[in-house]
Amino acid sequence: MTKGNVAVAHQWRGVIREYADRLPVDDATQIVSLGEGGTPLVRAAALSDLVQGEVFVKVEGMNPTGSFKDRGMTMAITAAVESGAKAVVCASTGNTSASAAAYATQAGLTCAVLVPAGKIAMGKLSQAIAHGAELIQVDGNFDGCLDVARKLAENYPVFLVNSVNPARIEGQKTGAFEVVDTLGDAPDFHLLPVGNAGNITAYWKGYREYAEAWSNPRHGEDAAQLAPVATRTPQMWGFQAAGSAPIVAGHPITEPETVATAIRIGNPASWEKAEEAREESGGVIDSVTDEEILAAHRWLSSREGVFVEPASAAGVAGLLKKQAAGEVPTGKTFVITVTGHGLKDPEWALKNADGSDVAPTKVPQDVETVARQLGL
Ligand SMILES: *Cc1c(COP(=O)(O)O)cnc(C)c1O
Repeated sequence: MTKGNVAVAHQWRGVIREYADRLPVDDATQIVSLGEGGTPLVRAAALSDLVQGEVFVKVEGMNPTGSFKDRGMTMAITAAVESGAKAVVCASTGNTSASAAAYATQAGLTCAVLVPAGKIAMGKLSQAIAHGAELIQVDGNFDGCLDVARKLAENYPVFLVNSVNPARIEGQKTGAFEVVDTLGDAPDFHLLPVGNAGNITAYWKGYREYAEAWSNPRHGEDAAQLAPVATRTPQMWGFQAAGSAPIVAGHPITEPETVATAIRIGNPASWEKAEEAREESGGVIDSVTDEEILAAHRWLSSREGVFVEPASAAGVAGLLKKQAAGEVPTGKTFVITVTGHGLKDPEWALKNADGSDVAPTKVPQDVETVARQLGL
């Protein structure tokens, strides 16, 4: 864009305005947005070398509240306002509550968040509190919180903003649009963590809509069909944490456990949709251990320059696992969604591989000692 002879940077306008023709909104919609989306697709050089292909990470920690949840929340809170709601509720392992609280604040809505006892990363909790959410700690796990939140929304005047709300999926599908818009086509493989399975559902929907001639139902029957944007769809590879891998096990896990708290979910709400994404794309849903997740977490921060929270590394852990098993073809393009920012849950960076604390080297205030220490 130019103004006179001065180049003016394009200001990203948030996913609803950028993709309005592909979302259930119209000109009258009062949009609630914090400028989410437009996140960097970073080439991961070390991973690309390893698999002899092109590997990119979609850095969702760059969203306004530090996770991909903002893509869905702009739609969900916009829908809440449209419905005349005065209050919203969500169950959360942390990031949904941080996002819901921020967007509800902008919309002037009350926000109630139900979090499981313990296991919520400090960064996420502080966000929900900072934005003035009504924080309720439920004596149970995430699945129990979601059960209570759904019943609350059924029986009381509050609007549910979990990913069982289709508006969330609509917003989150824009992640796939951005990947295709950046690469010029869909990648061969898309990898991501799977918790409640909303995101794998949303990416698959986005990729499919971009590969089809498509018209938005909301825009009426006379809406012009949009031409396909992508020539193909990727295989979807989803990864659950081994201690919380109900889809892999084929049954709900009653006591899910993992260091990756954002995917510590034993009975995913979008279970069937995730299986559909796997079947229709010819992909896989597999599990990775906590050790593999933490190794991938470290790989991303120390080799690619990308700091994520543990759950966000599950897709990278999956690629490393498949590579070690000889199941990764060469010469392909891979996109891995890294879902949330490392500062959400920073304690993991301060641990050595053996679990001990990382300690800084202590020296006196003396240049020569510091130089010697640095090997200069
Ligand atoms: C919510 C979340 C996930 C899991 O996404 P689902 O849509 O529940 O599968 C993964 N990583 C982070 C950081 C999250 O916040």
